[in-house]
Amino acid sequence: MKCPFCYHDQIKVNDSRNASETNSIRRRRECLKCERRFTTFETIELSIQVQKREGSYEDFNQEKLISGLMAACYHTTISREQVNDLATKIKNDLMSRQLRTVTTTELGALVMESLKKLDPIAYIRFGCVYWRLTEIKQLKHLMQATHPFQPENGSKT
Ligand SMILES: [Zn+2]
Repeated sequence: MKCPFCYHDQIKVNDSRNASETNSIRRRRECLKCERRFTTFETIELSIQVQKREGSYEDFNQEKLISGLMAACYHTTISREQVNDLATKIKNDLMSRQLRTVTTTELGALVMESLKKLDPIAYIRFGCVYWRLTEIKQLKHLMQATHPFQPENGSKT
């Protein structure tokens, strides 16, 4: 960190305290060169963690979601702009529910719900990849499903 006044990089901390209402730490700092004082806030950077099927976690990645959606929406009525909007809407939805982690299953269900309203072909395509469907009977079940779709049910029918 550099002093905001003289850009010197040696700063001392005079005081640290919790700003409890914002879950952050407030530090009073002083530049060792110009001796001017300033305050910094240390906060937790929030990213949504996606729990994958095998149990590991990764950061929610909007670009990755967009590329998955683009593949499903290729040659459909859905425009690139709609794909971007959809990805943003899903991210905002997760943020507004204050979710810190979401499973790939929940994330997929959210996407499927939105795609179903937009374009049936994109919905089916995304579903095939997403649920790793390998059999026609699963595909039939997907086409008839009311949400939440669970592929396990599909293999029983
Ligand atoms: Zn300074």
